Amino acid sequence: MAKRDYYEILGVGKNAAADEIKKAYRQMAIKYHPDKNQGDKAAEEKFKEAAEAYEVLSNADKKAKYDRFGHQAMGAGGGQQGGMNMDDIFSQFGDVFGEGHPFESFFGGGGQRRGGGGQRRQKVGSNLRIKVKLTLQEIAAGVEKKLKVNKQIACITCNGNGAKDKSSFKTCGTCAGSGQVRKVTQTFLGQMATTASCPTCNGEGSIVTSNCNSCRGTGRIEGEEIITVNIPAGVADGMQLSMSGKGNAPERGGIPGDLIILIEEIEDPLLKRDGNNIIFDLYLNFADAALGTQVEIPTVSGKVKLKIDAGTQAGKILRLRGKGLPELNSGYHGDQLVQVNVWTPKKFSPEEKAILEKLKASENFNPKPDKNDSGFFDRMKEFFN
Ligand SMILES: [Zn+2]
Ligand SMILES: [Zn+2]
Repeated sequence: MAKRDYYEILGVGKNAAADEIKKAYRQMAIKYHPDKNQGDKAAEEKFKEAAEAYEVLSNADKKAKYDRFGHQAMGAGGGQQGGMNMDDIFSQFGDVFGEGHPFESFFGGGGQRRGGGGQRRQKVGSNLRIKVKLTLQEIAAGVEKKLKVNKQIACITCNGNGAKDKSSFKTCGTCAGSGQVRKVTQTFLGQMATTASCPTCNGEGSIVTSNCNSCRGTGRIEGEEIITVNIPAGVADGMQLSMSGKGNAPERGGIPGDLIILIEEIEDPLLKRDGNNIIFDLYLNFADAALGTQVEIPTVSGKVKLKIDAGTQAGKILRLRGKGLPELNSGYHGDQLVQVNVWTPKKFSPEEKAILEKLKASENFNPKPDKNDSGFFDRMKEFFN
């Protein structure tokens, strides 16, 4: 059967912006969500079809291929038919609906993720956020950090189930052990039959009659873990890395949440970051600028020697190629731009003043702006280089 056009499926034009595509998909996902259309095969197909379309159109690479070659470009069999299962689709929702999106709670998930094969939902613990402060040098080289993380871990005594022993479990009467209850609710989308987590047993299907003493039945305790994180070179302030399964354990068993690592850049006193480039202000005294010299300057990968030509003007920019920061996940390196400043003294001894007065009269000391050797033109040349 010929597949329908992805744009048609989502009801957007070929030139639709990413936002528009996302919005269209969000509406489709709500309309055809299986929890709202239980037993409706056609709705399920539409739900899957929309997810597949969104999968392709939300990815710049796939979208470009699809735009050029159509369905044939999407792999053998003319697409991903059957390639996306419900789990894939639900895991996509984090991106579509934003973090902590209302979808799960809206449809009765309540902080739970679907387990494989549509069985009882697997509980997932909360995410844990931690800040890591990095110097520019660490960012330049990438760094391994050992982080001490205080978190909720599964209780060791009861293995996280919260029960005193094996005989402390009783099948839940409300849901007869299924962990789920069906209810019909009135929402802004109309009447909906939803499957919700059983309120009596919290979706666990069983009730603990006698609690574990170590965790008082919660199945988890305060713990600490040393987590080794490999931070790749080229990260930037505000970026987040996520390590799945390294967050808090949920109550009474399940999968721990994620550990979200927020990158914070420690400001360097000398080196300023501009994307992947590093800008350094070099101050020369007038004599060195006039006569030429060699200086040692800091870079993100240690000190380097730099030759200053005789007659270097203030404002000149020297470019140290490849001495900037690496780009994340690529071989590209930025540059270090050294901006030359000539230090003008503010205090002089009578002798110094006399020398300067004498030099002032000299022909060579009067400015002769040169298109090829003035600070301003250099700056323009270097920045647009
Ligand atoms: Zn316990
Ligand atoms: Zn129950």
